Amino acid sequence: MISHGSKIWHPWTQIKTSSEPKKVTSGKGVWLTLDDGRQLIDATSSWWVNLHGHGHPKIAEAIYKQALKLEHVMFAGFSHDPAEEYVEKLQPHLPKHLNRFFFSDNGATSVEAALKMAFQMFWNLGKPRKTFVVFESGYHGDTLGAAAISTMAVVRAPFEPLLFEVLRTPYPATYWGDEKVEETEKKALVAFEKIFQDRGDEIAAVVIEPLLQGLGGLRQARPQFFDAVEKIARKWGALIIFDEVMTGFGRTGTLFAVDQTHCKPDFICLSKAITGGFLPLAVTVTTEQIYNAFLSDDVGKAFLHGHSYTGNPLGCVAATASLELLQEGLYKTIHARMMERAKNILASPKIRKARGLGDFFIFDLNSDEGYGSALGKRYRELVEEEGVLIRPFGEAVFITPPYNITDQELDQVFNALERALEHL
Ligand SMILES: *Cc1c(COP(=O)(O)O)cnc(C)c1O
Repeated sequence: MISHGSKIWHPWTQIKTSSEPKKVTSGKGVWLTLDDGRQLIDATSSWWVNLHGHGHPKIAEAIYKQALKLEHVMFAGFSHDPAEEYVEKLQPHLPKHLNRFFFSDNGATSVEAALKMAFQMFWNLGKPRKTFVVFESGYHGDTLGAAAISTMAVVRAPFEPLLFEVLRTPYPATYWGDEKVEETEKKALVAFEKIFQDRGDEIAAVVIEPLLQGLGGLRQARPQFFDAVEKIARKWGALIIFDEVMTGFGRTGTLFAVDQTHCKPDFICLSKAITGGFLPLAVTVTTEQIYNAFLSDDVGKAFLHGHSYTGNPLGCVAATASLELLQEGLYKTIHARMMERAKNILASPKIRKARGLGDFFIFDLNSDEGYGSALGKRYRELVEEEGVLIRPFGEAVFITPPYNITDQELDQVFNALERALEHL
């Protein structure tokens, strides 16, 4: 196929080699209905956003009611109850030292805000620092600032000359039954410390995907690694940014990945699942200390940054409704439910490096092609023939189902994964 029929340019797609996008006409629970009448289980919650499946009435109603009252107002010089209430509801679930909330619209912007705040904090204090430490295979978004701190090659390649310098360090990727994990972590920590020994006073912040990296291959690391990383970074006065855009809102089995560490990050970036998949929204959460570094009689020391839709009231009520649904606690049991069904896959010689936590069940197919892997694509097609939608990254296959998936639907997902493996 040379081109698609529609005028729309789709994201993250090599249009020449991919088939026409499938048209979705409706979504209910875990099910998507296509215009040819087919139904598919959305086993990755549509890029990790649909926490409670599609079309949850509680969120839909909250948005409708708010839309009749106030759909939007500029957020500089104005505030509103939906934003104030969301912040009050969210804060008790975050580490206590984080008490300032900056709104934006998506994962990349939530990370950009943290980067710029960290950078400007040092500038405001008259002690500028110019670079960041980031992890190999990291992904933090595809806008230029977020791409600069992402190390995934396909995000960067055409833009290298435009991207600011960062210092890269290994992410100690592990999996179930990995006997070398301690050795890998030790090596990663030595490399990490060396960067600080060489350039410690230039480093504004370390940017971390805690416990699990996303697009760069769904690589998992143990919580104690991040504790050790924080200790080293603190010695040199660097800030810590936790990018929980993917891991937030129960995905790792706890409400936030930070809960499984002893870390006290200076920033947590939240987006993706924040509204349960209804509206674009993001929050960058930070400390009183950083907030205070922007207070001045000089307007130039303010954080002069924000977007037209910042703090959108509809997004905020959706986020509040989603957080209330999360409190039913289904995210705490999904892991055990998946593991009950994973035995046959784990025994298959066609997979390796099975891993995961919380809502993530991950394995690699036997290939080293990386992003765009033909084997990954073939597997995705086979799984789809079984009525289940997945989207492997390279050879890394994962599912992250909506937490309210039924037992029967979960059986269907695992049966599809198994059958597709047999045919691969
Ligand atoms: C998806 C993702 C982002 C970017 O979020 P967008 O909403 O796609 O801009 C940033 N960080 C992580 C860890 C992500 O998984």
